[in-house]
Amino acid sequence: MAIVQSYGAAEVVTGSCHLLRIENGPNIMIDCGMFQGVVEERNFEPFGFDPKEVDILLVTHAHLDHVGRIPKLVKEGFKGRIVTLRSTMDLAEVVLLDSAHLMEEEYRTRYKKAQRRGAEASVREPLYSVDDVKAVYDLAIEYAQYDKSVKLGRDLTATFRNAGHILGAATIEIDFKERGRFRRVVFSGDLGNRNDIVMRDPVFVKEADALFIESTYGDRNHRGIKESEEEFKEVVVNTLLNNGNVLIPSFAIERTQEIMCLLKRMYDKKELPRCKIFIDSPMAIRATRLYDTYHKELSRSCNDYLKRDGTIFEFPYLSYTVKSEESKRINEIESGCVIIAGSGMCTGGRILHHFKHRLWNERNSLLFVGYQAEGTLGRRIVEGERHIHIYNEEVLVRAKVYTINGFSAHADQNDLIEWMEHFKRLEKIFLIHGEFKKQLVFKKAIEKRLGKRAHIVAPEESIYL
Ligand code: ZN
Repeated sequence: MAIVQSYGAAEVVTGSCHLLRIENGPNIMIDCGMFQGVVEERNFEPFGFDPKEVDILLVTHAHLDHVGRIPKLVKEGFKGRIVTLRSTMDLAEVVLLDSAHLMEEEYRTRYKKAQRRGAEASVREPLYSVDDVKAVYDLAIEYAQYDKSVKLGRDLTATFRNAGHILGAATIEIDFKERGRFRRVVFSGDLGNRNDIVMRDPVFVKEADALFIESTYGDRNHRGIKESEEEFKEVVVNTLLNNGNVLIPSFAIERTQEIMCLLKRMYDKKELPRCKIFIDSPMAIRATRLYDTYHKELSRSCNDYLKRDGTIFEFPYLSYTVKSEESKRINEIESGCVIIAGSGMCTGGRILHHFKHRLWNERNSLLFVGYQAEGTLGRRIVEGERHIHIYNEEVLVRAKVYTINGFSAHADQNDLIEWMEHFKRLEKIFLIHGEFKKQLVFKKAIEKRLGKRAHIVAPEESIYL
């Protein structure tokens, strides 16, 4: 009998990693992501299975919590083939290289410090290096396309459906024959928010013997996207008309492209005062180029822009600053700037030097458009901290601070349940990729609204399909 075991994203959000073992068939892994935040230490623990025994790796999308342990998997012996969309593999390369660079840099700094104490032997090597990332791309990679089944073996296929979450994101249907019976197991991947400006709506699946569904926001509903867009507009327009500058810390993938589209739409409608918009993040610029390349996977409005303007994201006020000298030159502009820079939670990156130069001035605005995790500088500012330290210098936050919560790359409780309602046949529901407390709320909501039981998957629990 086929079994699924969870080696990450069971009762937590990050580290997504599931292994489907088919009787007399191959072992199929679905995602191999990194643990982040408080569970970060788990990345350094053994996987709990032998990477050499994994025959096929399917990847739902390129976020670090879904791809971040692939280099470790390869380093420890995985030699099978990888099957996913080309856009996902390209975006994953940007994500993995960025993370490898950061880890290598951190390692060098720690090593130097330890050396001075004579304790260099105690410094742990990074989880993976740039070379380990390159080794992933030396493996056999088979590119899937949305809605076209990929043959994985005899009586065994995988079909990728657009999940509308980030570029390339997919829900994966796996069909196989076991003991003479056809079975289908579905992994939702991360499901997108409906009516997103950049992504398409998630595609519905017709049937499943077993569904493994994400539950990140299974406990709540987002604020309306329309209200959030209105709030966004108001902050940007008022700040610019007041001769101020707008600072937007933003995630390189998805949120940045969404914000660019919003600004472009304002420009189109002549709602945007004359200004200079800077995409000041090399990673976001790389990601945006990939969004351009794979535009067919994006929303209709993105493709309408492309037809009309020959470009999706660009418009006259917008410029990309790749080099750090270009980034520093932004400091010389007194007013009328909208600066979009990483990192999204202000834990590093170019946003910090903009903070240093702009936060002391009450005419400027700091606009948060994404989740700020506990312990990050972003979260401390959101919670009211006004004396912050940047590069060993104290900076007083006099700029106005705004938080807009309605932008999300994830479906909320309503969206998740409505997505499940579209199944014509849905036998078993398993909850993964969510905090345990939130999953309990989601489980109750499913039972109430769908009249179906849902099971919260525990780490390494064997689920017989
Ligand atoms: Zn994701």
